[in-house]
Amino acid sequence: MSRCAAGRWLPLQYCSGVVATIPRANFGTLLDHSVNPIAEVYGVPHVATGDMFRAAVAEGSELGRQVAPILEEGHLVPDELTIELIRERLADVDGFVLDGFPRTMAQAEALDSMLDEIGKPLDAVLLLQVSDQVATERLAHRALLEGRADDSPEAIRNRLRDYHELTELVVDRYGQAGIEFAVDGEQSVDDVFAAIEDALEGVAARR
Ligand code: ADP
Repeated sequence: MSRCAAGRWLPLQYCSGVVATIPRANFGTLLDHSVNPIAEVYGVPHVATGDMFRAAVAEGSELGRQVAPILEEGHLVPDELTIELIRERLADVDGFVLDGFPRTMAQAEALDSMLDEIGKPLDAVLLLQVSDQVATERLAHRALLEGRADDSPEAIRNRLRDYHELTELVVDRYGQAGIEFAVDGEQSVDDVFAAIEDALEGVAARR
């Protein structure tokens, strides 16, 4: 058992989940203050594909060299590489919060098979919703503050396009499965945190 921030106790298994996110939209802040603590209070790892790719680039590993130009242009890393990265990471964890994965149907299908193999169904999908306009504004603001290469106007356009063309299909898929919770990502960080907690407690209550 693990304690959630509100002081109630929930079984750990309810806390594994996948967080499908619209291209970043300053989720650095939102996630650090909402999803990351959620993972912390439930005692499960926060597995963020974007962070893992950026770490590989910083290390200068073979994977890092392969993905650096893709990240910089704001394109999605090919499915095979991304799925492999997740497969290795999830090999021996119990519950987990996935952040930024799956973003394509191929990734969602691969995740289903991986979870089948370890006998752990997906408990919840959290969708942090932010309009294109707000996403673009936040990214442009972050570009000024941090100067991240993938916050250039062209990279932002690529990421938003991929979201609409590829990730929205994944969102629909989980919506149909009835395990998706939409969270308004335009609220304050505290309210996002509270909404995620409510969603996870709703999942636990249904069991
Ligand atoms: P953002 O939410 O700003 O797009 P992330 O930190 O989630 O940022 O991801 C940064 C970059 O890492 C993405 O633009 C993409 O190049 C790559 N990436 C992250 N997750 C995935 C994924 N599931 N599939 C393919 N590429 C990914």
